[in-house]
Amino acid sequence: MARFIFVTGGVVSSLGKGLSSASLAYLLQSRGYKVRLRKLDPYLNIDPGTMSPFQHGEVYVTDDGAETDLDLGHYERFTGVSAKKIDNITTGRIYNDVLKKERKGMYLGKTVQVIPHITDRIKEFIKNDSSKEDFVICEIGGIVGDIESLPFIEAIRQFSNDVGKKNTLFIHLTLVPYLKSSDEIKTKPTQHSVKELRSIGVQPDIIICRSERSIPLEHRKKISLFCNVDIKNVIETVDVRTIYEAPISFFKEKLDSQVLEYFKLKSKKPVNLGPWKKITKIILQTKKQVNIAIIGKYVELKDAYKSLDEALIHGGIQNNIKVNLVRIDSENLKVSEIPKKLKDISGILIPGGFGRRGTEGKIAAIKYARNNKIPFLGICFGMQMAIIEFARNKLNLKKATSSEINKKGLPVVGLINEWIKDGKTIKGTDKDLGGTMRLGAYEAKLDENSMIRKIYGKKIIIERHRHRYEVNINYKDKFEKKGMNFSGLSPDGLLPEIIELNNHPWFIGVQFHPEFKSRPFAPHPLFSSFIKASKNHK
Ligand code: GLN
Repeated sequence: MARFIFVTGGVVSSLGKGLSSASLAYLLQSRGYKVRLRKLDPYLNIDPGTMSPFQHGEVYVTDDGAETDLDLGHYERFTGVSAKKIDNITTGRIYNDVLKKERKGMYLGKTVQVIPHITDRIKEFIKNDSSKEDFVICEIGGIVGDIESLPFIEAIRQFSNDVGKKNTLFIHLTLVPYLKSSDEIKTKPTQHSVKELRSIGVQPDIIICRSERSIPLEHRKKISLFCNVDIKNVIETVDVRTIYEAPISFFKEKLDSQVLEYFKLKSKKPVNLGPWKKITKIILQTKKQVNIAIIGKYVELKDAYKSLDEALIHGGIQNNIKVNLVRIDSENLKVSEIPKKLKDISGILIPGGFGRRGTEGKIAAIKYARNNKIPFLGICFGMQMAIIEFARNKLNLKKATSSEINKKGLPVVGLINEWIKDGKTIKGTDKDLGGTMRLGAYEAKLDENSMIRKIYGKKIIIERHRHRYEVNINYKDKFEKKGMNFSGLSPDGLLPEIIELNNHPWFIGVQFHPEFKSRPFAPHPLFSSFIKASKNHK
């Protein structure tokens, strides 16, 4: 049976529970164990698919077509294990499942309650498909003390009773703040948070203390005493310079060996930190830099394009260059300001997006990239915008648009009518927005003599998708006559997947999201090639 590790958070959110869980997973994996990561989110949305990135950061997409929390991206990047639909659950989905069962009369006349029915469903999720794993690490979203997370904490308390304390471990991640005015480190918030956790029946076995500076022994002792945790299990995590230092830092603090000791397990192999040390060194020591503009709507929030930022950094690692991400808000991008704003930029990227706001700024920036031969990568919405720009300015279709933006224009980009998934035909819709996009891994066939074929070095690729609209295939010939090639199509030849320009050093648009599959130790070829072209641009 798998052993279960639960990671809760305290004091404040955004302390890096996801990265801590992912780092621990890597370390255990490197010691020879099989690890699965899961995320339990306490909000009522069924999944984050309909949420704005302003609310919840990026929506991550798995191969099997789930729209999930961005922490699943960290999990995949740190462990190389592809996450699945069943690895992320929300309160909304739990209630939805329970209520559906209730309507079918499956509770046999009983009163349906949070305990046991909701907590039972949570426990089923935790255990689901875990028999082949050595460890399942479950991260609980939010912080202890939130009303919403109560059923989850109650469920993990029960779970530990069900499967036995020796098979479950509770890790609590808290903040140990440093007060500048009094030059002191404060343990009280941690004590309070643990008190809160204990009041609902969960005694942490390990406390990870996030701190700006190293925590002196006397403070650790205090935490150990007041929180009833062995001093060896009070582990500090001091802010790292890059996230890739996190596994190195947790190893130094012996997090993984404490976990193994708890479960009375031995390491099967020595931990290999070599790859992390190598990329950390490149990131921290490389002097040469390249400026890449990300022109989008959600640039104010750092997490809105998390996987994209990471993929660009991976491309930099591959090319031994530091990538500076210059975020530009497309809504406030005036045409007249473009040359000035993009003066020191060597590559332009338009990421995925939704809705009308900010589209004209994106289209103007694409025109600038095309005319000035600046490397350009358009992802999903970015590719659709590149199509509209080209149609308007090169094919002279002045009314060209996407039906997502304007229902009355000429829809060179329109709602997908239908597509094939696992042999079944799925119909497109813009009426019901939850989970109805073309989601997850689909194949694309690449043209023999295209740039994209050279970049991937393959005829067929599999990439993750998340879109409702598509470039209208009927325009293919018109575009190609003017030098924009549809160089990758869905296997049935109906959905344009990739576009590229003939007379341009590097201008590519893709209907999928390559960023979801880039890994620090296996940078995605498209990002490596884009960064290489940008590096050569100036
Ligand atoms: N809004 C566009 C569509 O649904 C693009 C989506 C995206 O960029 N992920 O097709």
